[in-house]
Amino acid sequence: MSKVKTVKDVNLAGKKVLVRVDFNVPFDNAGKISDDTRIVGALPTIKHLIAQGARIILVSHLGRPKAKVDLKYTLAPVATALAECLGKPVAFCSECIGPKAQAAANALPNGGVLLLENVRFHAGEEDNDPKFSKELASIAEAYVNDAFGTAHRAHASTAGVADYLSPKVAGFLIESELEYLGSKTEHPERPFVVILGGAKVSDKIAVIDNLLDKADTILIGGAMAYTFKLALGESVGNSLTEPDKVDMARSALKKAKEKGVDFLLPIDNLVASKLDFAAGTLGETKIAETIDSGWEGVDIGPKTIDLYSKKLASAKTILWNGPMGVFEIKESAKGTFAVAAAVANSNSISIIGGGDSVKAIKKSGHSDKVSFISTGGGASLEFLEGKELPGVAVLEKVSCCSCSCKH
Ligand code: AMP
Repeated sequence: MSKVKTVKDVNLAGKKVLVRVDFNVPFDNAGKISDDTRIVGALPTIKHLIAQGARIILVSHLGRPKAKVDLKYTLAPVATALAECLGKPVAFCSECIGPKAQAAANALPNGGVLLLENVRFHAGEEDNDPKFSKELASIAEAYVNDAFGTAHRAHASTAGVADYLSPKVAGFLIESELEYLGSKTEHPERPFVVILGGAKVSDKIAVIDNLLDKADTILIGGAMAYTFKLALGESVGNSLTEPDKVDMARSALKKAKEKGVDFLLPIDNLVASKLDFAAGTLGETKIAETIDSGWEGVDIGPKTIDLYSKKLASAKTILWNGPMGVFEIKESAKGTFAVAAAVANSNSISIIGGGDSVKAIKKSGHSDKVSFISTGGGASLEFLEGKELPGVAVLEKVSCCSCSCKH
């Protein structure tokens, strides 16, 4: 995979730069931003551009406003929060295209920052409409994409707009996502141990297939383990499974054998008589090696925790995506938190591949001990499937090296 150019490779001083960021932040009931991780994540790129004297025009989506103006989804509060983070004013424009946006961009001094209104107020954004892309591009003279979380979507601000702007490069956030999810798993320090969990095999089968070419060990937890157990003819009781994906699971098991990948399923489980997700209750519970009818697997058991922790302790590279059980309920969260601790305490390059594992590692209090936490849910999974993301594909590549690769 050839490397994309980044903001370090170009001089954008004095240029109006359209920077696609992911400011899709959550709000609490009082209308306050409840988690500013995404704003903080964009700061290195914004600060670099400020230092370079670029004129920074930030564009983002927020929520799902259904292609019309809906002030419930205005980005105005984000401009205020960003100004606080930067310690300097951030202009806000209530339009993202048209004369008002043009004027706001033209008024930017070198090193100035402007945030445009929610790009999803326009149908052209998600339709990746060339007319809308062209209008958005006409405000600026260069393009930076730093929104990894939406890089798997070919929308106007993540992809289409790049047809009309040059240079077009990645920000630091996308650069580190590509480095950790890409280079570090492409050429891993070995042993490379992958740990995958979550609800569905179907969501992650393509990831498993791709990682079977790279990993030394794959540890499976969560409900998806039970579809693999079905494929092996084992009893799974009432556990959550996808019977129509049993063939896929069987193919993955076959590939693992052919490739010599150590592919492990739970050897014991926490089983519950009646999982009620909404009420947060499990009914009666016990530890069981086989899951009898009337019982449902809700977490990996203590022997599995031990086994997986040992594998993780000797790893040199770890990639983790998906919880080991119903971690939202305390009693069935032990496996997930034990894995979080094992990942954090390992002496390895540790990569948390987005989604619920990010929540789990943060909740476990170990997030500062891992090497990298991906900001993308769907984008991380698509990338780990080996797909080129549209928002990355449109960026300029570093020109060919003198090696024998096919850049
Ligand atoms: P995913 O989005 O595929 O990573 O799945 C995350 C969800 O899987 C979480 O909400 C977990 O509660 C759920 N999950 C994990 N293990 C199980 C299990 N054994 N039974 C039911 N749900 C599970």
